[in-house]
Amino acid sequence: MTLSILYRGPLSSCNYACGYCPFAKRTESRAELDHDRACLERFTAWATARTADDLGVLFTPWGEALVRPWYQQALTTLTNLPHVRRAAIQTNLSCKLDWVEACDRDALALWCTFHPGEITRDRFVAKCVELRQRGVRFSVGVVGLKEHLAEIDALRAELPPEVYVWVNAYKRESSYYTPEMVAQLTTIDPHFPTNNRHHASLGEPCRAGNQVIAVDGDGTINRSTSSSGRSATCTPPASSRRCSTDRVRTTPAAATSATPTSTG
Ligand code: SF4
Repeated sequence: MTLSILYRGPLSSCNYACGYCPFAKRTESRAELDHDRACLERFTAWATARTADDLGVLFTPWGEALVRPWYQQALTTLTNLPHVRRAAIQTNLSCKLDWVEACDRDALALWCTFHPGEITRDRFVAKCVELRQRGVRFSVGVVGLKEHLAEIDALRAELPPEVYVWVNAYKRESSYYTPEMVAQLTTIDPHFPTNNRHHASLGEPCRAGNQVIAVDGDGTINRSTSSSGRSATCTPPASSRRCSTDRVRTTPAAATSATPTSTG
């Protein structure tokens, strides 16, 4: 089975304080962190045992995970498994980077976001340079807030052209951008106009639930991170496996079977 897995455990704390984010400067107790670690280690053990599969794993934590050593260890473990083609994570890139030396960097990828209010551009670019020196594949992104347009321009100018800089469109306010801003941001990220609109997905062909799944810390599988409970957000193509429910579990019993088992 070829699977792309989005994993999001319970970890929901962050060392940054972005104004638009509910996890800004949120802290967690020792017990909460220990629980997150146990969840991640169970997931990693499950993925390790799936030797007959071809896996891609993307960690999409609520908060910042790479400052926690258990995420660094999970990426080290996963990237060194022959049946894991890619292990990647979203990060604000505030962590130290020496741990990447133990990873198979052909399989490792970082999805790095620049937060201009939380780190200077110089320091962030220095981290990107270090990633390149250590042979890590990565992309750089930034939320396209109006007050950060000058920083976004400068970031693009300071990074090598082969480093893709994506701009995450701010869509919480309608008509947030002027046409001039859209043109400016499109020179930085040619895909910005596509990102800057909402896309209908209901009824469209989709790999979610078939070749792409989202796993939470409890081991529950949803068809995507945006589908929860039993309601599907889109319909798989006729050739895909159809699910009467979104949710399956990666409990030890399910982990030993070839196909995740619906719990109904
Ligand atoms: S770095 Fe990410 S998780 Fe942390 S406060 Fe900013 S947006 Fe939220």
